[in-house]
Amino acid sequence: MDARIEQTQNLQKEVGLVRFAHGKRLDGLKELHIETIRDLLNHYPFRYDDFSQISKIIDLPLGQKHAVMGTIHQAQGRKTARGGYLFEITLVDETGMLKAVWFNQRWLADTLTVGKELLLLGKAEHYNGFLNMTSPLYTLIAKHQVEPGMSDEDSSIAHTDAGIEPVGIVPVYRANSKVSSNWIKRFVLESRKLVSEPLDPLPAKLRMRRRLVSRQIAWHDIHTPANAEDLRLAHNRLAYEQVFWAQLIFAYAEHQLIRGLPVYEHLGKTSTNRNELNTASESSDPPSEEAPLLDALTRSLPFELTQSQQQAINEIQHDMRSTGRMNRLLLGDVGSGKTVVALHALTTAVQSGWQAAMMAPTEVLAFQYAQSAGSYLEGIGISWALLTSSTSETERTRILEELASGSLQVIFGTHALIEPQVVFRDLSLIVVDEQHRFGVEHRKALIAKSPAADFLSMTATPIPRSLALVLYGAIEVSYLENRPQKARTTTYCVDSSVSYKAYEAVRQALKRGEQAFIVCPLISAPQPSDEDEADFLDDLEGFVDEPYIAAAEAELQHLRQQVFPEHHIELLTSRVKSVDKQRIMDEYKAGRIAVLVSTTVIEVGVDVPNATVMIVLDADRFGLAQLHQLRGRVGRGTKDAQMFLVSHNPSEGARRRLKLLEKHSDGITLAKADLKERREGDIAGVRQHGSSELSLINVVRDSALIEAAHQDVAEILTHDSSLSKPEHQALRFELDLRGEVSVD
Ligand code: ADP
Ligand code: MG
Repeated sequence: MDARIEQTQNLQKEVGLVRFAHGKRLDGLKELHIETIRDLLNHYPFRYDDFSQISKIIDLPLGQKHAVMGTIHQAQGRKTARGGYLFEITLVDETGMLKAVWFNQRWLADTLTVGKELLLLGKAEHYNGFLNMTSPLYTLIAKHQVEPGMSDEDSSIAHTDAGIEPVGIVPVYRANSKVSSNWIKRFVLESRKLVSEPLDPLPAKLRMRRRLVSRQIAWHDIHTPANAEDLRLAHNRLAYEQVFWAQLIFAYAEHQLIRGLPVYEHLGKTSTNRNELNTASESSDPPSEEAPLLDALTRSLPFELTQSQQQAINEIQHDMRSTGRMNRLLLGDVGSGKTVVALHALTTAVQSGWQAAMMAPTEVLAFQYAQSAGSYLEGIGISWALLTSSTSETERTRILEELASGSLQVIFGTHALIEPQVVFRDLSLIVVDEQHRFGVEHRKALIAKSPAADFLSMTATPIPRSLALVLYGAIEVSYLENRPQKARTTTYCVDSSVSYKAYEAVRQALKRGEQAFIVCPLISAPQPSDEDEADFLDDLEGFVDEPYIAAAEAELQHLRQQVFPEHHIELLTSRVKSVDKQRIMDEYKAGRIAVLVSTTVIEVGVDVPNATVMIVLDADRFGLAQLHQLRGRVGRGTKDAQMFLVSHNPSEGARRRLKLLEKHSDGITLAKADLKERREGDIAGVRQHGSSELSLINVVRDSALIEAAHQDVAEILTHDSSLSKPEHQALRFELDLRGEVSVD
């Protein structure tokens, strides 16, 4: 046991302890963010070259990557017509003959000499009457040692070391100029001498139930699998563990955080005594007939709640009234009616005598919440205010005083809310809209104002539940399923050569008294002097040659002068001053503006039921989720709507993405379709959350595994919240060792 503990501790030690890992190669490892032995073992191969199934030459399948073994019968290098170098060998076995060629690798003439036995991995094709492989991977068979002159930096050479059988599945690692894939492979082998038998943090019972191989086997097999099945099992175990840790660290920190927090008790909640809690919540949250504010809210709504809205509200209220801090994600497609759900949460908090805050990512949105939700709050006698960076100084001073004294019950705002001067008396609910747009620090800063407060995040970004779990940790999810409105939006992809069709649809809509949006990727045509936009252009790799990208300011002029001179058209971009922004939105809402030319500022939240047509110019410049968000700005009333995605010669990938929008109107289905198209492991959002911790996870493929890990963590913590039971000893040990749970 002692030896195993020591080996487990070694995981945390410097990678420099591994034999041969010093100097330049150590620097190379550091550049790959490999600092500890654990980092090294978690640096999984990104590809495997399969030398394990070796065909006879006569049986080589054409056009598929396959391995073959034979003796070099002929070898020769020569100059090509264009001044390059071509090296060609003839390989024979007892069934036939195969030619292999490589370009510009002069050293091969010294390495691949006649008579040697060689293993090749490549695609066989017929060429000029011969069976041929172009630039196959190769490895010399072990009875010949590695040639002294052979560069180990050449990643096309499978590593052959004395005593290591070169045949099999060869891992290929992400590497750099200082440390090659082959060296990493060697370091991994060496490091396992220091960590040959680490403790397995996952309880044995759990491993049995989920059919997970031990960590020791998994680490061995992911780096040096004997066959595809072993690799699959190793991958499965390690992928499970990635989610397991993400969930555990989050949930465990949560437990630590809420234990004995003074604020927590102050809010009438306690994590230790359920009875006490029940009394507290009964007195502060009386049954419905004694919740006059909520009743008044129900009476003041001009519509009936949909079934899924009602269910989400019930789930939220249940969380708010029960033990523990709510951490719930309200996930509803655009137009699904999240605002009214949030309004109920805010009212529930105030009904219990506490304050609530709602943070939006943009000023436009914050205004809009203040206007729509605020008017209902006012109607039932709840005080509210709006705080953004453009709130006047006197107004701001008043708001800060009232928040601190507790006389202000609900505050809407942008990230102006997280400034240190903003202090609450009794904040018990934080609602954050479009959470992913805020940095993690922003979210934390707001939570820090009242760590025990219930937390509700809302997003229209259509992410499957599995991704929500991975991104937000041990969080509960409420879904708003269908839109309350009957209107449908039809999406059309059009080439820019026929964009008049889209403008014609706008013209028809304006005739019927409806309104339209026209969205452009840029605010203004880029000026070489304007650094920001020059950067922006730099980012558009490969597009810099294109003569023109639709810019809102130019589009406005074009529309006003040539297309719809008889209509009132306005511009709304992030450059418009915020007073003007609000005036423009008000006028558009009131129907006095016919067409709004804009950028993605209108992406979220803008709610104008009379808007029925949207044109997105250069639509291939936008992300899929973004386009779906934009689409949610039309068809919000009772009238059917149209969305035109105009693009000019989009790439094959971009065209496919745009077509997905034509096909899928539901955001979740769309997101799944999109994720399926992506490369394995390339998770939307996870990357931007900087989580290499989840490198093995693909949210669509692995949703069952993610759910399993989520459940298992919840179950473990329910029965043993301090992880002190004997069967959780190794888990606890590992958690402390990793030192990732800090509660401050
Ligand atoms: P989102 O989820 O995109 O934030 P909103 O909350 O802005 O959606 O709601 C979209 C529109 O639907 C608003 O005009 C809102 O008043 C309306 N709405 C919300 N719930 C209902 C309902 N149950 N019945 C009818 N209309 C509703
Ligand atoms: Mg909204």
